[in-house]
Amino acid sequence: MGARILSGKAIAEAIKAEVAQEVTVLNEVHSVRPGLAVVRVGEDPASAVYVGHKVRCAEEVGVRSEHIHFSDQTSNEKILETLQRLNNDENVDGILVQLPLPRHISEREILESIDPLKDVDGFQPVNAGRLMQGYPALSPCTPAGVIEILKRSGIEIAGKHAVVVGRSNIVGKPMAMLLLKENATITVCHSRTYGLPAITRTADILVAAIGKPGFIRGEHISEGATVIDVGINNVSDRELARELFDDSDIEKRMLAIEGRGFTLVGDVNPREIIAKAGSYTPVPGGVGLLTVAMLMKNTVTAARLRRNIVSN
Ligand code: NAP
Repeated sequence: MGARILSGKAIAEAIKAEVAQEVTVLNEVHSVRPGLAVVRVGEDPASAVYVGHKVRCAEEVGVRSEHIHFSDQTSNEKILETLQRLNNDENVDGILVQLPLPRHISEREILESIDPLKDVDGFQPVNAGRLMQGYPALSPCTPAGVIEILKRSGIEIAGKHAVVVGRSNIVGKPMAMLLLKENATITVCHSRTYGLPAITRTADILVAAIGKPGFIRGEHISEGATVIDVGINNVSDRELARELFDDSDIEKRMLAIEGRGFTLVGDVNPREIIAKAGSYTPVPGGVGLLTVAMLMKNTVTAARLRRNIVSN
């Protein structure tokens, strides 16, 4: 029997429905309509797609959204000025700056200038610090989505050994902190980790956030492990696709490569994992779907916190 698929679709839909319900009550009881401002700089095509999803999802759940798009040539100062305006705008509850930013822009300076109360991506150091100290914080959407998948799929976290591969500020580190908050025992691995497979094989829960298609293979996991694949990679190499997908999937993948030039692949080798894991998140259709839903949830949380609205 193959591994159980942890689909993100139903969970993301459930979260969006909960958020929409909260927005309705905020509206009707408190006359508040949460607002989200999304700032994009430059012409990165993937960023344009992600921002499109975010704006559409905001509409779906009743969150007012504003999309501000700057050209590649825009200065750091101009963006900081805009963020200052958004920080002071009473109608804006959440501010998100889509990453990556062009090279001449200081990502650190930009993210640090966002009001922590409006930091719905959870990348601002005040929120990152609060998360590390175990205080309530707006948490980064992708790792927060992983926690929702685990909880809503009935996978126990407390007392389990969770191994996170990747230590970025947007996924790996906050993922480790959120798992720790749920009382997992955590190990964080990265590119300098020695003997990775021996470490990852000790994981009850393995989270892959690496950015390398199919990197986590059968040798990296133990029988029955829960494997969470955060990776999103565009693969156009047909040979690699054949290595990663079995007969049931390969035709669809080849069609995608032919049609749009690539197929979406995670950081996990699905062919090898399915045979061994207890459960796993597919790509696409897994963690990726949760990110936008969690952004909406954070926006509503930010709207409540700023206005001291504790509950409905
Ligand atoms: P990142 O900033 O490039 O970080 C990658 C991490 O992987 C680094 O910590 C790196 O270690 C580690 N790594 C690289 N090669 C390794 C190796 N051979 N062995 C062990 N660790 C290795 O990437 P990211 O932003 O965290 O994103 C990771 C993946 O998640 C990407 O595929 C990205 O597209 C995807 N992602 C998905 C979502 C979503 O919505 N589902 C959101 C964000 C990101 P060092 O620190 O030592 O370099």
